[in-house]
Formats: sequence, structure tokens, C-alpha cells
Amino acid sequence: MPDTMKAIVVERLGPPDVMELRELPVPQPGPGEVRLKVEAVGINFADALAVAGEYLTRTRLPYTPGMEFAGVVDALGEGVSGVQVGGRVASLAGRGGLAEYALSPAAALIPVPPSFTPAQAAAFPVSYFTAYHGLKTLGHGKEGEWVLVQAAAGALGTASIQLAKALGMQVVAMASTEEKLAIARDLGADVTLLQDDPDRVQKVRDAAGGKGVPLILEVVGGPRFQESLDMAAHRGRVIVIGNASREQAHLRPVELMKRNLTVTGLWLTSLMGDAEATREAAQALTQLVGSGRVVPQVGPTYPLSESARAFQDLLDRKTTGKVIIEPGR
Ligand code: NDP
Repeated sequence: MPDTMKAIVVERLGPPDVMELRELPVPQPGPGEVRLKVEAVGINFADALAVAGEYLTRTRLPYTPGMEFAGVVDALGEGVSGVQVGGRVASLAGRGGLAEYALSPAAALIPVPPSFTPAQAAAFPVSYFTAYHGLKTLGHGKEGEWVLVQAAAGALGTASIQLAKALGMQVVAMASTEEKLAIARDLGADVTLLQDDPDRVQKVRDAAGGKGVPLILEVVGGPRFQESLDMAAHRGRVIVIGNASREQAHLRPVELMKRNLTVTGLWLTSLMGDAEATREAAQALTQLVGSGRVVPQVGPTYPLSESARAFQDLLDRKTTGKVIIEPGR
């Protein structure tokens, strides 16, 4: 067992190049924690926002980013039971993944289906739990119903299309390039539209029988938020999941009255504290994974030393699927 390891450290907030590769002591698990030898880290848009200091919670410095990762358990802290040294798990620890070894509260571990590769395991928790909660827990999506998926070739977008199709829903997918739309179609999207199509609002409404879409997973925000309201059907549900545009959105409550719309916020971190919702989502996801219809879409993969490039590519909309960093590579 080495005494030191390579890890990414952020000491000041800013663009991805504030991340530095350092040599740090291998961390020791405290009570209730486990240590993982990290095989793969799933990079989320939220990781880049946290490094920039623009996330929903304040980023405490210094820190090692990497909110979700997968690896092999190699040490247990005091009081941990039911976790096996040598087993592969995923973790939603919230930080610390971009390192050769990372600590996770035992409570933040997520079992990994044996069919998953380490990269697939790291690509799973955030995107698939969020997609499930958007479609079902908060979105109340029904079989046969239309759903609009934005940023459809991204990590959350691909997860949302797969789950929506597996749940029998019909999908309108939007993305910024034809290549991204082709990915959405491969995953089963029924209608695809360029994000900048000048007639996008009418075309989305037409796709769902001219009446608008009953369920919208809204991840772009800014001025696009108003468009989502315009695309929604009477009594439509708009689930606010992200703000990838990083621009301010404006909501005029009277807009909601006219068509009896519902706007619901979704933040996975706070939903994970809801034991019943988490259990229900985990059960449904386990079943769908078992059926072979849900396979995490692994995107570009980078070594730890190229973490800044991975984050920048994600912010620059160059990636599809889940961006993965492999500390052992
Ligand atoms: P993605 O892999 O989807 O990458 C982000 C995508 O956002 C880009 O590829 C791009 O797709 C799209 N996008 C649209 N407008 C912009 C813009 N102005 N600048 C950059 N990208 C833009 O990332 P994630 O799957 O990690 O996240 C997707 C969204 O979902 C984010 O907003 C994220 O914050 C949110 N999210 C929220 C969660 C929650 O708990 N609330 C959990 C998980 C994700 P395109 O080029 O096709 O437009």
C-alpha cells in the first residue's frame, strides 16, 4: 500500500484550469467511511459549476472534485458493516473522486450491477437517479405520454431517453448538432429537433399532436425556460433540473395560470435524503438494468492528468454521454 497518491486539488474557484495534479497522502477512512481504489469518475456539469463556485451549495476549499465515482473497496472505517473489501461499488460521496484513492461515507455507496464496467458504474448514479426522479417521482410520467428531453446526447439526456423509452413513453429530443440528434435517435427518441431550429416551439407542440408536451425535463434555463413553458401542454409539468446556459431565467406566475402549468424543481442531492423516494427509484432502476434496456452511455475518457481538459470539453458542449476520468490510466 503506497503512502501517497495522485489527486486533483482546487485551491481557488475558477475555470477548469484551476485544477492542479498533486501528490497527497492516501486518506484513512474515519468512522462510517470506506476507502475506494478509484477506477472511474463520472464528471457532471455540476462538478464544473462547483469548481467555478456557481453550484447550488458553496464550494469549500481546498478540495478534490469528483462527486460520483466507482472503484474497489480497499479499507473500512470503524463501525462499517455490510460492505465487503474487494467488492466493486459506486459512490455518490459528493467530492473527492478525482484521486487514486477516495473516501466515501458507507451510506453514500450504491451497489453496482455485475454487468457494468467501472466506467459504466461511474456513469450511472447521478444521471439515472435524476432521470428517474424527473420522469416518475416528480414528473409522474405515464406510459404513452410525450416527454421533452433537452441536451439529449449528454449524460442526463441519454439516461432520460433510455428510461423514458423503457417506461413506454414517447420522446421529443433536442440537442445542438445533427450528430447529437443521431445519438438520441439510436437510443429510441421518436422525434428529434435541433436546439436552434427557428420553428422549434411550434415543431415540439406539433410532435405531441399539436397540443404541446405534457412533461418537460428542463435543463438549459435562461431565456429557454420561457420556451419550455410555451412548448408545454395544458396542465403540463415542467421539471426544472438544470441551468446549463448559466443565464438568468424569469418566471411570471400568471403564465402558469393560463394553461394550468406546474413547475417543479429537482435537485438530486436533496432527494437522496428522501429514503422512500430513493428506495423506490433504486428498485425500479435495478429492474430496468436487469432487463438489459438501460445501459449507461460512457462518453470520452481521460486520464487524471487531463482533468481540466475533460471539464472544459464538457462546458464547451463537445462531449456526449458521461465524461469519464480514469485515475489509474
Ligand atoms: P451533459 O453531459 O448533458 O452536458 C451538458 C450539455 O448541456 C451540453 O452537452 C449541451 O448539450 C447542453 N447545453 C445547453 N446549453 C448549453 C450552454 N449554453 N453551455 C453549455 N452546455 C449547454 O451534462 P450533465 O448530464 O451533467 O447535466 C445536464 C444538465 O442537467 C445540467 O444543466 C446539469 O446541471 C443538470 N443536472 C441536474 C441535476 C440535479 O440534481 N438537478 C443532476 C444531474 C444533472 P447541447 O450541445 O446538445 O445543447
